[in-house]
Amino acid sequence: MIKKLKNITKSLYNSLELDNSCISPVFSPTLNLTHGNNDFVFDRSGKKYLDFTSGIAVNAFGHRKEKIYDAISSQTLKLIHTSNLFTTPPQLELCKRLTSMANKALSKTNIITDIQYSSVFLSNSGTEANEAALKFTRATSHRLFRSMNDKVEIISCTNSFHGRTMGALSVTGQKKHQEAFLPLIPKVKFVPFNNSAELKNKINENTAAIIVEPIQGEGGLGIISKDFVETIMHASREHKIFIIADEIQTGLYRTGYLFNSFNVGLIPHIITIAKSLGGGLPLGAVITCKTIHDILLHGDHGSTTGGNPVACSAALATLTKLQSLGTTVQRINSSATLELYIKALCKKFKGCTPLGKGHLRGISLPPDFSVDSIITKARKKGLLILKTGSNNIRIAPSLVCPPLLIHKGMRILQKTISSSQKNITQG
Ligand code: PLP
Repeated sequence: MIKKLKNITKSLYNSLELDNSCISPVFSPTLNLTHGNNDFVFDRSGKKYLDFTSGIAVNAFGHRKEKIYDAISSQTLKLIHTSNLFTTPPQLELCKRLTSMANKALSKTNIITDIQYSSVFLSNSGTEANEAALKFTRATSHRLFRSMNDKVEIISCTNSFHGRTMGALSVTGQKKHQEAFLPLIPKVKFVPFNNSAELKNKINENTAAIIVEPIQGEGGLGIISKDFVETIMHASREHKIFIIADEIQTGLYRTGYLFNSFNVGLIPHIITIAKSLGGGLPLGAVITCKTIHDILLHGDHGSTTGGNPVACSAALATLTKLQSLGTTVQRINSSATLELYIKALCKKFKGCTPLGKGHLRGISLPPDFSVDSIITKARKKGLLILKTGSNNIRIAPSLVCPPLLIHKGMRILQKTISSSQKNITQG
């Protein structure tokens, strides 16, 4: 009888086990999720997880959001796809909304600038947004500075992450992502993040663009320094260099502001966004200043499905929700609670340091902790978290995650860290 029961349990367990051999080995998912509800997701066995990943900083409002669902379903009934040979009302409305939001946020900085955002290219992902941004700055440089054939160089930062397609990968400052794919596109230089002296050394009349993240989402949550921003801005004016701010992970209030760049005084010629923009559907955007807009020509770039009307409708609903959430007590309380708990946790465990901002936070772990093992153990306890850099925890809950759930998640994390090291040094 017991043997029979054991066999039944075993076969039940096996049926729940994941056969992921049909998925490309470049991914290694070990969890199969079936549904979600607000800040929780559920796997095939019905196990419930508190989601502090938000689909890698995508789901700004958690799971199953009616307003976004309504926008998607009503557009699906009207028109799903047209290609970029045509335009659609949601696409036009979205491009207008993004430029006006960017210009409004810029005007609020009181920084005197001649930059004005005038158009948007829509893509299917973050990496494609950066591909477009790189192409746009190169084309503009070629056409504006015809006599300077060599003004094509792009400067990026070490530890940066800009995507996995060949162009975006070429400006990604992490060897582990690049090594297998060499050679990449030429004329890219790297400077250590926040090293103004090195940046000044590398800049010359051939520099066409600088691409930078205000906070390095994948590379360890380093925050751009005031001095580095000033050096970039000064170099841009002196040498006619275009600035691309990659706000794919930091933008749309994930780090507290519509765009973090403006908040630190970085006024880019191009802003790239993606992640939460499509409300969970694939969508990226390249918000472009007038100088670049005026130089680009029909056919310079394109995408068959970029700016798909369904994704644009989801984006409009998402932006409406984001705009009303932007400065609310709800978002601020949620982020402040997260900060409080992270600081407390770092105080408890010697060598841990708090990282990040807003709802993109983390903990830098000392070498005696393994982030991978903490992620696995937390998952078993019903908490989903992320990794950033080489050994840091990344926590990216929804922007509306209630303080009570932040408390719950951080308690699980604390217990997990506690049990992850035998000879814990507690402060
Ligand atoms: N840029 C940054 C800053 C990112 O964090 C990411 C993804 O994590 C990308 C670009 C690439 O975006 P996607 O994965 O949508 O291609």
